[in-house]
Amino acid sequence: MSEGLAGSGLETLEASRVEAAGAEWALVRRDGGLLLAVAAPAVAARLLDDLEGDTMGTPAGTVLVGPRSPKNAAALRRHLAWLRPRPLGTKTSAGLGDRLGLATPGHVRAVRAVGGFAAIAPIFPQQSIREMTRTGRTPIEVMDDATWGMFAEGWRDGTGADADHLKTTADIDACLAVGFSMFTIDPSEHVDSSADTAALATLRDKVAALPWAELADTEEALRKRFLGRSFAVEHLKVAFDEAVLLRAAAKYGKAVAHVARMSRHLLKAAGPTPVELEVSVDETDTPTSPAEHYWVASELKRLGVAWVSLAPRFVGRFEKGVDYIGDLAELEKDVAAHAALARHFGPYKLSLHSGSDKFSVYPIAARLAKGLVHLKTAGTSYLEALRTVAAIDAAFFRSIYAFARERYDTDKASYHVSAELAKAPLPADVPQADLPGLLEHFHAREILHVTFGSVLKEVSPDGTLRFKDRLFGLLRSNPEAYAAHLERHFVRHLRPFVP
Ligand SMILES: [Zn+2]
Repeated sequence: MSEGLAGSGLETLEASRVEAAGAEWALVRRDGGLLLAVAAPAVAARLLDDLEGDTMGTPAGTVLVGPRSPKNAAALRRHLAWLRPRPLGTKTSAGLGDRLGLATPGHVRAVRAVGGFAAIAPIFPQQSIREMTRTGRTPIEVMDDATWGMFAEGWRDGTGADADHLKTTADIDACLAVGFSMFTIDPSEHVDSSADTAALATLRDKVAALPWAELADTEEALRKRFLGRSFAVEHLKVAFDEAVLLRAAAKYGKAVAHVARMSRHLLKAAGPTPVELEVSVDETDTPTSPAEHYWVASELKRLGVAWVSLAPRFVGRFEKGVDYIGDLAELEKDVAAHAALARHFGPYKLSLHSGSDKFSVYPIAARLAKGLVHLKTAGTSYLEALRTVAAIDAAFFRSIYAFARERYDTDKASYHVSAELAKAPLPADVPQADLPGLLEHFHAREILHVTFGSVLKEVSPDGTLRFKDRLFGLLRSNPEAYAAHLERHFVRHLRPFVP
């Protein structure tokens, strides 16, 4: 079989070349693009039925050359098992979301640079439904882009795949159908943050109105389980007086019911396919107290829900693409409490959402969670794409920045960001050589971060996409530069979590 692709005259990408399932597989370069090539000896020729492309006979069998299409990506995942996402369990892990679909090669290099899968288990396909909507991508595109990226780099150690911030059972079905393995349930629409400051009488009303049948519970039974009791969890003492108990139940009761509903749907729909679940309440207005974490975890367990990671809303501010804003000593106390609870009720991992660029948080989380941690990043790969563009085509980057400033006040609404337009440099005031430096500027960085959807979708008067095609063209013709920026950036994210 070794004379298969080597004897075909095709220019193969050596890192991608692999012999598996009785055939030889690789990406090949043709006319400036990348295609899939598969050389199959006569005995394995049936396998080519799963693929599409042009075939030619060789003395050794058949060679197929085909597009990087959804059908061929699905065939790769079917025949090369390591490209099929799988649950990662409680192993230390990192999700490396990719809004553009071109970042996986750089992500792979960063994971390799810190020691590979053994050091930190990666999740290359990861995107929230919200971001898919904003970028005009579908779950299968997210999956396929990561598949091609792993294949190109010869990544054969496996991956998870995180269907992030799912809010409905339809979201679950759409992501399950294309092979996602981790399902992050976001019940934030069912969290009642007003309970934080509500008076006891109001809390009593809120609790009386909870969906008790769905919770398989009564208020009387709930009071019996918690009221006046105090629970020791490592260094913590979690005590439930009436206000603490009713506040936790009022704030998170409907969310617990929703997670249980979503979990039941997932397990039924997945059948024998192994999947894992994350519970995320990070996108709520107010922090999750240790007592609330205790209450949510014990109630989810009572309802038979199993989860591999939980993202509380920590104290302070985890804004997109910038370091932690808040008192690090307070955060340390908070992380210590949530980590103790995760060990007690699981063990499950603490999940750090909006985890990109939180460089001051990583050592704290790594030490206190003792490896039971999942780091989730998304938009920072887009910022590295802009850094790449700024170095190659400064004038184009300047026009993206100018547009981002116009969009910021509208686009920031659904994000937790505090950048102010007045504090970010005006595009015309930044000399060409200093443009990449905008990506180190707090205000400019957040402005660029939250406007990605508008940048990708903006249409010129002549009907063409104003930025997207050129942005993608620049990244596709400079893959090494983009991968190098990503590797450098993500090594800084991952290394603190490697023991
Ligand atoms: Zn999140």
